[in-house]
Amino acid sequence: MKPLIKKVQHSYLLELIRALIRFKSHDKKRMHLYVQELGIKGKGLFTSAAFKKGELVFIAPGTTRVAHFEGNDCYLYPDWYGVDEHTWIDITYPFVKINHSCSPNTGIFSSRCFVALRDIEAGEEVTFDYSTSDDESDWVMGPTACACEAQHCRVHIGPIQTLPQPYIDQVYPYIPNYFIKKYHLKGRVDSSVDI
Ligand SMILES: [Zn+2]
Repeated sequence: MKPLIKKVQHSYLLELIRALIRFKSHDKKRMHLYVQELGIKGKGLFTSAAFKKGELVFIAPGTTRVAHFEGNDCYLYPDWYGVDEHTWIDITYPFVKINHSCSPNTGIFSSRCFVALRDIEAGEEVTFDYSTSDDESDWVMGPTACACEAQHCRVHIGPIQTLPQPYIDQVYPYIPNYFIKKYHLKGRVDSSVDI
């Protein structure tokens, strides 16, 4: 049986099952997500509980929307994030307040599971990389340059096609499945991530 176990070790199904188990056992932690003012940067989503790398931080609630945008239409619903062809999650409050970072501490597993990419401390802002959930060629995050203050901030934030491979290595496989398959994304398999 050993070869079979090895084969499915990193399968999405197995990871999804692990994520759901984690979700069940960490319900109380998820109650500790809250919105905080960030001055001129608006508001952000914060956590009063700590999360270990690989832990499920939250499952995004919200309606699945189907909409085909062309040109500037992609700016009509800036809070939606993409998960499939012309398919979006209209994420609800307070999760909708999650900000972009070029060095995010969560990534999306499958389409709705936000998983810690590294250890997250209590009191820290929860972020994800908007580029990992949008492939509309006309889309850029704006109207101003990115102000995430990450050491390797990309400044001008575009769709997933603009991400360099070394960065994909860092966030893979925590990118919606649709984009992984569509762009044949591959990354370093980090066995230390345990969801
Ligand atoms: Zn940035």
